[in-house]
Amino acid sequence: MMLELDDVTVSYGRIEALHGINLTVNEGEIVALIGANGAGKTTTMRAISGTRSLSSGRITFNGEDITKLRADLRVIRGLCQSPEGRQIFPGMTVLENLDMGAYTRKDSRGIAEDLEKVLTMFPRLRERRKQPGGTLSGGEQQMLAVGRALMSRPKLLLLDEPSMGLAPMIIQQIFDIIVEINQAGTTVLLVEQNAQQALSRAHRAYVLETGRIVKEGTGQDLLHDPAVKEAYLGVA
Ligand code: ATP
Repeated sequence: MMLELDDVTVSYGRIEALHGINLTVNEGEIVALIGANGAGKTTTMRAISGTRSLSSGRITFNGEDITKLRADLRVIRGLCQSPEGRQIFPGMTVLENLDMGAYTRKDSRGIAEDLEKVLTMFPRLRERRKQPGGTLSGGEQQMLAVGRALMSRPKLLLLDEPSMGLAPMIIQQIFDIIVEINQAGTTVLLVEQNAQQALSRAHRAYVLETGRIVKEGTGQDLLHDPAVKEAYLGVA
C-alpha cells in the first residue's frame, strides 16, 4: 500500500470538514475522489500534501508515518500536488515554471531528462516554452501545472480538479495524459467534480459527502451505481 489515510479528521476552527476518512492508494493505481461542492475533496488533498494539519488520525506513505511531516519534506519523499486553480507563476516563462517544479532536486541530468519527457508529452508547452505562463489558455495552464508537478518526479501525483473550467475536448486530452502518466509508472490520486471522466479512467474511486466517505468501489462499479448516477452523473 502506497498511501493510507486512517480515520483522518480535519477542522477549520470550530468547523469539522472531514469526519474520519479512511482511504488507500496502491502502487500503480489511479484513484479518484468524487463529491459535490464543499464535500471536503480539497481538504483531503491538503491533509495529504501537508498544507493542512489533522485534528486526529494518521497518514502513512510508503510505510512511513507522515502525519506530522512538513509539506516540503513530503515532496522530497515523492508526494506532489498539482493544486486546484493551477497556480502557475504567470510572470515566468513556461520553462521557468517547469524548472520550479524540480526545486527539491539536485540531479541536473535527471531534471533535463524529465523536462524533455514533459515537453514531449505536452507539445503545446514546447511550442510556448519561452512565453509567460500567464499568457497561456486555461487548458495550457492546466497542462503546465501537471507538467510542473511531474518535474518533481513524484511517486504519487495528487491532482486537484484537473478538468476545472476546461472545454470538454481539452478535458478528454487532460485525462488521456493522466492515463499516460500512470502507465509510465506514476501512481495518481485525483479529486474531481467531473465524475464521468474520473470514474471511467480510475481503477478505484471513493465518494465523499459532507466530510465522510459514503461509497467506494472500482471506477466501473461506481459508474454503474444507480445512486452515483443520480447524484453525480446527471442521470436517473
Ligand atoms: P469544492 O469542490 O467546492 O472545492 P471541496 O469538496 O473541495 O469543494 P472543501 O474545499 O474541502 O470542499 O471544503 C470542505 C468544507 O470545509 C466546506 O464546508 C468548506 O466551507 C469548509 N472550508 C474549506 N476551507 C475552509 C477555510 N479555510 N475556513 C473555513 N472553512 C473552510
